[in-house]
Amino acid sequence: MESKTYYMILGVSSTASPGGIKAAYRDLARRLHPDVAGEQATRAFQEISEAYAVLSDAQRRRDYNDKLKRASDGEIVAVRRVEAEPLVREPTTLLGNPERIRPSFEAMYERFLRNFTGIGVPKSEQPEALNFDVLLTPEEAARGCVVPVGVPVFTRCPQCAGSGQDWVFPCVCCRQQGMIENEKVVRIRVPPMVPSGSSYEIPLRGLGIHNFFLRIHVFVESQPGWGGKE
Ligand SMILES: [Zn+2]
Repeated sequence: MESKTYYMILGVSSTASPGGIKAAYRDLARRLHPDVAGEQATRAFQEISEAYAVLSDAQRRRDYNDKLKRASDGEIVAVRRVEAEPLVREPTTLLGNPERIRPSFEAMYERFLRNFTGIGVPKSEQPEALNFDVLLTPEEAARGCVVPVGVPVFTRCPQCAGSGQDWVFPCVCCRQQGMIENEKVVRIRVPPMVPSGSSYEIPLRGLGIHNFFLRIHVFVESQPGWGGKE
């Protein structure tokens, strides 16, 4: 038997109600999420996710309680420890999957571009969510996985310094846009055993984007909730 039980991991008593377990998990998940607490919290985050996956399911919780009981009775119980590396998915891109972005990218283009035009984003502008749906296979969902998402970023055209004009001619380098589009990849780590419909918010400030954050919605194949197509 492991020294720490799932109850200890979540900091609840073994008689805690489902509501109490959920509240404890949510609180820990907020604080230990790798996007908040950094990579070093990944292991702890996986532990609480694993503990919650078992204790939030009435049948699995009963089985687990039986196991704990047998262990305390002296019976040796082998506990499977999941140490598999997370799967890394094929990179996907925002612009390559317009049907999975809400609201549409076009609707937010001006706002998005403001981050890169050199004109400051107004202080009063609150960050908005760029919602992106991701469909996981059951295996990816069970083991946890890394989802690389390409985010468009823009840089001022070096040829025309953003004017779109190269002397008297239209700038061919940026096709008169003044900006050149690139793509930066953000890697989102989805912990094991996430329920379909979970969402994660990822700041994009590291890419120079201050008025948006990425919110990915994770769906699991053959579980309800997926509205898009893949
Ligand atoms: Zn140019």
